[in-house]
Amino acid sequence: MVEIRYTRLDGFEVFASYGDGYMKRVAVLTSGGDAPGMNAAIRSVVRTGLAYGWEVYGVEHGYRGCMSGQFRPMTARDVGGIIQLGGTILGSARAPAFETEEGRREALREFAQAGIEALIVIGGNGSQQGSQALSEMGFPVVGIASTIDNDLYGSEITLGVDTALNIALEAVDRLKVTASSHQRAFLVEVMGRDSGYLALMTGIAGGAEAILIPEVDFEPAEIAQELREAYQRGKAHGLVVVAEGAKYNAQAMVDYFRENHEDLGFGLRATILGHVQRGGMPGAFDRNLATRFGAKATEAIHKGDFGVLVGLTKGAITTTPLSEVTSNVKQLDAGLIELAKTLAM
Ligand code: ATP
Repeated sequence: MVEIRYTRLDGFEVFASYGDGYMKRVAVLTSGGDAPGMNAAIRSVVRTGLAYGWEVYGVEHGYRGCMSGQFRPMTARDVGGIIQLGGTILGSARAPAFETEEGRREALREFAQAGIEALIVIGGNGSQQGSQALSEMGFPVVGIASTIDNDLYGSEITLGVDTALNIALEAVDRLKVTASSHQRAFLVEVMGRDSGYLALMTGIAGGAEAILIPEVDFEPAEIAQELREAYQRGKAHGLVVVAEGAKYNAQAMVDYFRENHEDLGFGLRATILGHVQRGGMPGAFDRNLATRFGAKATEAIHKGDFGVLVGLTKGAITTTPLSEVTSNVKQLDAGLIELAKTLAM
């Protein structure tokens, strides 16, 4: 059992104890960039929460809705027919005000007024920083690891990655077909401001000649040389997968090649996939992962296991303290970076 105490904005001291099975009203929100599978996670949270006998509330527009009291009760029917939908029926938002203590106090006041006793946060790195900040103020929070960037410590694979990866891969496969017909090199830019995971795995699965990610330093002249050599080896196409946060993004690479009159052998084209990667219908892997994550999150709340992130570790659904999640940086597998280079021969 966990006992918490915090002071509301109006000065009222709130004291409550959790984990003894009496939880009555729990809220769920989606925050940060949307990821395929968020709806399946909402559905799972609502239905497993209802099975515990709770009232489950949806918070609209992430932390912004917490601060403005945008809560709505969710029934089992409200989450019918959404398991296959991309995006999030609750809406998501960036809410900088929540990064301040005043903003979070505002949210605590709204929770107290609405009788909300615990919160489940479906989101990525920034969102779980918010979960941890709220948890440190004494409010019961459980996070669900969800971001297409896969840059969240505490989950080997986050919700949405698998679907986003398959969408990027389909685009790459199609581009390779046309590239081969015209002996072209394609620069394909995928999402990933700080993490190269999506680019790395798309590149390996798509058979890229080069993969450019924020974690690895490179010069465009080296990439030009690699493409020239690939052309001379008789390759029908050259594929370079670029993470948006790489030292040079796809457009910067094109500009560099043009300004420096680099003769690659191949003709050059660039495609930026952008938000296309987010909007897809979640695949079977993400729907099932979301369902298991949602069930684990409500179980954690039921048991009074607060301040944790639900994630996937070695095939099992696990919880990791949010303090650990937010103080560690997930590393890319260096072996995979080397493997990608070997396979590009
Ligand atoms: P993705 O990486 O998939 O886009 P994310 O969850 O990392 O998702 P962010 O935009 O980084 O997305 O964060 C979402 C929201 O989380 C922010 O708008 C803000 O409200 C909250 N947040 C971020 N960092 C903090 C922090 N340090 N403290 C409190 N709240 C935070």
